[in-house]
Amino acid sequence: MSAIGNAMNLLRGAIVESSRVTFPGGAVTGESKVLDVAMLVGGKIALLLEETPFHPVDATWPDQPADRGMIQLKGGERTFPVEDCQIFGVHKETKDLAEMAKVPGKEKQNWFAVVAHIINPQELEAGSFLEETVVANVDAVYRNALNTHHTGCHMAAAALNQATHSYWSKGGARQDSLKAWDLDHEAMDTSMIFENRSEDLYRFGKSIKKKGLQTEQLFSDLEKVQQAANDFLAQWVASGAPVAIQAAGPHLDDTRTWHCNLPDGREVKMFCGGSHLPSLSKIAAIQYNLEPLTVDGEKKLKATTVVTLKSE
Ligand SMILES: [Zn+2]
Repeated sequence: MSAIGNAMNLLRGAIVESSRVTFPGGAVTGESKVLDVAMLVGGKIALLLEETPFHPVDATWPDQPADRGMIQLKGGERTFPVEDCQIFGVHKETKDLAEMAKVPGKEKQNWFAVVAHIINPQELEAGSFLEETVVANVDAVYRNALNTHHTGCHMAAAALNQATHSYWSKGGARQDSLKAWDLDHEAMDTSMIFENRSEDLYRFGKSIKKKGLQTEQLFSDLEKVQQAANDFLAQWVASGAPVAIQAAGPHLDDTRTWHCNLPDGREVKMFCGGSHLPSLSKIAAIQYNLEPLTVDGEKKLKATTVVTLKSE
């Protein structure tokens, strides 16, 4: 965690619910009241809005980076670049402030998850932002690039599971939404969304072998597996299937599920806190590449997914 995000204290302690977020529905702009201001180490401040289009990075699983953009004081010419956007926690009773990732898992239910828009207030007093109405503008080009590769990343995970289903000798693993053995979940090490690709790193230890994965066979057939995954992806892209995020509620801490309805009537779905394209029809092609690696003597697999959009 960068020093910029070291939460110190809230100016007012007025937060009574988790931030309302509009990024899951695709919003990139919005107007809101500033509910509270968090004072940070080094003179930066974090604006906590009632509602925001900004997607914050989730430090506990930082797959999709924070949005970039600006916050503008309404009615004035003052504009502040959002230098970082993180998830902070406000304790429901004490109103203490913390980086949410530092709150222990079983404690999290006692904290409101809020979107912290970190800015340099320049010469303005932190208190002058309280109760002000601001306009939040997300960098739409950057967001769309992240949407594109986040959607690609999920489709690739489903395609990998389809392509490796026959490499499991017994049913010791979890099944994905298409009823394939969920290699993406069982072997997941890290996942990262970039502007021009997504990268998933998979590890293959003893436990996945115990669950029935024939690791050696899989590694010797990598080219075949990669081709099979690319074939599934090509078929799905050609379908132009719709993509949607279903949310249990409007708040940052409400559960959200990503859905893609395939033409054969099946539905790919997975929990997801990020943002996505509205449909596969925007995509021209998805290229999936598997590369075997040895990291500290451990066998790993790096999957790189590159999505090309249709030209408008
Ligand atoms: Zn996701």
